[in-house]
Amino acid sequence: MDFRVVSALRRHARTRGDAPAITGGGRTLTYADLDRRSGRVARALLARGLGPGSRVAYLGRNAPEFFELLYGAARIGAVTVPLNWRLTPGEIAAITADAGAALTVVDPEFAGAAGADTSAITLGGPYESWVAAHPAEDPGHAGGPDDVVVQFYTSGTTGVPKGVQLTERNLSMAELVAARWRLDGTAVSLVAMPLFHIGGSGWALVGLWAGAHLVLARDVDPPAIVELMESARVTNAFLVPAVLRLLCAVPGAARRDHSALRAILYGASPITTDVLRQVMEVFRAPLFQLYGMTETTGAIVQLDPEDHGRPHLLRAAGRPYDWVELRIVDPAGEEELPPGRVGEVWTRSIQNTPGYWRRPEETARTLPGEGWLRTGDAGYLDEEGYLFLTDRIKDMIVTGGENVYPIEVEEVLAGHPGIADVAVIGVPDPVWGEAVKAIVVPVPGSALTEADVLEYARARLAGFKRPRSADFAAAIPRNPSGKILKRELREPYWKDAGRGVS
Ligand code: ATP
Ligand code: MG
Repeated sequence: MDFRVVSALRRHARTRGDAPAITGGGRTLTYADLDRRSGRVARALLARGLGPGSRVAYLGRNAPEFFELLYGAARIGAVTVPLNWRLTPGEIAAITADAGAALTVVDPEFAGAAGADTSAITLGGPYESWVAAHPAEDPGHAGGPDDVVVQFYTSGTTGVPKGVQLTERNLSMAELVAARWRLDGTAVSLVAMPLFHIGGSGWALVGLWAGAHLVLARDVDPPAIVELMESARVTNAFLVPAVLRLLCAVPGAARRDHSALRAILYGASPITTDVLRQVMEVFRAPLFQLYGMTETTGAIVQLDPEDHGRPHLLRAAGRPYDWVELRIVDPAGEEELPPGRVGEVWTRSIQNTPGYWRRPEETARTLPGEGWLRTGDAGYLDEEGYLFLTDRIKDMIVTGGENVYPIEVEEVLAGHPGIADVAVIGVPDPVWGEAVKAIVVPVPGSALTEADVLEYARARLAGFKRPRSADFAAAIPRNPSGKILKRELREPYWKDAGRGVS
């Protein structure tokens, strides 16, 4: 197998150079354009003194230049570090410093956040002249499968974002997965999730590997995305549940022409059966769920459209790909658990990162040996090999010796008509160690009380899983993938309890 990311690009450029590769920012690049421009970027990076192992950061919205940079850097063995523009300037500076970025390519919109002392090239005029000043020939760097291509920072849901190194071998999963995602040279693929996370970039890179036409959405603007899906005749889309929910709520979304759609893929955070039902009604397209993480180059488990027809599987994440091994391990010891028992999900495949950047301790914790990776997620396998996720190990509440997975409680409470949004956390309790607490956002105008919430849970949940208290809030804090920031929610309750918030 030809493992390098640039190999597929060059193959498409040679055999079907005029085919559109990326539309975004008001222009379309063909595969030949992308090949040539990334060749110029490679030369431009070399001229700046970058080489194998150098880090180059990208701070910008979804734009074709991201791919020029990524392929350009890969052509000289340099590593692209996509930065999350939603972070504060201080957080961005911390990541740029952690990565040791030699150069940042920055959208003018975020120029102020790029940090004063990093040398930066601004998209638009300065970037164009920089690229144009160099020839398009490939520098002829011979890469190896263990070369790092991209370094993503994790979502920071459970702690400080960590730099995850992904290699040519990791990204060659594209060759295996493209067919499972129904991506090929005839696909029009919507890239609406941010490219600074594997969910956006992984999806996009597999599309380019397959020769698809990527259509980039610059922002998560629900009416604009619904419009774009129709006007560009999108065939394949990957969207996170929080965004799917917003798209379904766009007035008239169900009456749009979705006849070109071949696949809607969703994942990155739990989905409720209610949102799933809405998606089925509005888009009427085959649905695929993906489960994975930055550390596994994205998806390792998939729930196919046929599975969506079996009601009990609507709660499953899916089954591992043929090239992926999964096992469930007792979180305390290291004993492998049989089907039906909840434990930590471990995985082994070519998709596993070689490790975090400059974090040997976390790397050792996450990669315990023999090629295995600990996901930090709790779940179980059924007799057919479907993975059911219960929650993150770090979010699990231990109350009176019983384990409570907050997601289960959240799903029940979300069924209350007066509850618009809800998060469940553990708070310190002198008797039980931790007690279950619900943080509730009431539907505007509803007269919901704490007693209503507790009463609703009483009829539907085992005693130890029921919230002992409920607080009201205006909103639940979430990150761009729609994940609840539990650590922020827990903080005020734990800050005097003498236990760190992990
Ligand atoms: P950090 O590691 O910094 O705390 P993070 O784990 O949220 O952040 P990502 O690598 O972007 O960063 O997300 C991977 C996690 O997303 C998985 O470990 C899992 O908890 C969650 N996840 C991914 N896919 C699904 C899915 N289909 N259903 C439920 N949860 C999912
Ligand atoms: Mg994680």
